[in-house]
Amino acid sequence: MAEETAETAPGVPERGARRRKRAAEPAAPACAMSIHAHPDDQEFTVGGTLAKWARSGSRVITVCITSGGAGSNQSTPLDMTREALVPIREEEQRRACQALGISDVVFLGYEDGVLEPSIALRQDLTRIIRRYKPDAVVCGDPTVRFYGKGYMNHPDHRVAADVALDAVFPSAETRLIFPELLAEGICVSLGADGAACNNHLDMFGEMRLAATPSSDPTLF
Ligand SMILES: [Zn+2]
Repeated sequence: MAEETAETAPGVPERGARRRKRAAEPAAPACAMSIHAHPDDQEFTVGGTLAKWARSGSRVITVCITSGGAGSNQSTPLDMTREALVPIREEEQRRACQALGISDVVFLGYEDGVLEPSIALRQDLTRIIRRYKPDAVVCGDPTVRFYGKGYMNHPDHRVAADVALDAVFPSAETRLIFPELLAEGICVSLGADGAACNNHLDMFGEMRLAATPSSDPTLF
């Protein structure tokens, strides 16, 4: 087996390790949505790109599926509770987004540490994608189980990425998936004129970038 180097080892959420070289970066989208499991996941992964896009005029929406109430073994005091930690981490996320130039932060309130790939979560993400109609969605890579030799991917990261991609396709663009969202007044109009649709799904380090809508997404 080839020796792992800094260029071949994937980056690690929550540890900020170097990522391998990447392909040419796409142009800044008019509207981008960043979907992750925990506060700080986006900052350790795509935060720099989101800041660059925001400076280029992109509207960026951060979707945080949990509020990080489980903390971490290294940094959470023993007398800390989930209830006390949630507002702290939400405020940290808002401040981080402010520093990056991100205008909108949405917390979905799912429980940290026990995230499941549920239909309810997919519906929540579909609702948000249909509402904001982002030109691009960035999320983790659900296929990554191990980050090199030093980190086993958190199950919440895998679930968040998996469900985010399922929400992008097929749920966001398919009218009769979650028709109850139509009753809420949230319609499907993604790419109605086809102008914004480029069906591009690209590797972004270990992150994935999905254009919306995408009726025939291609991984490469
Ligand atoms: Zn995380």
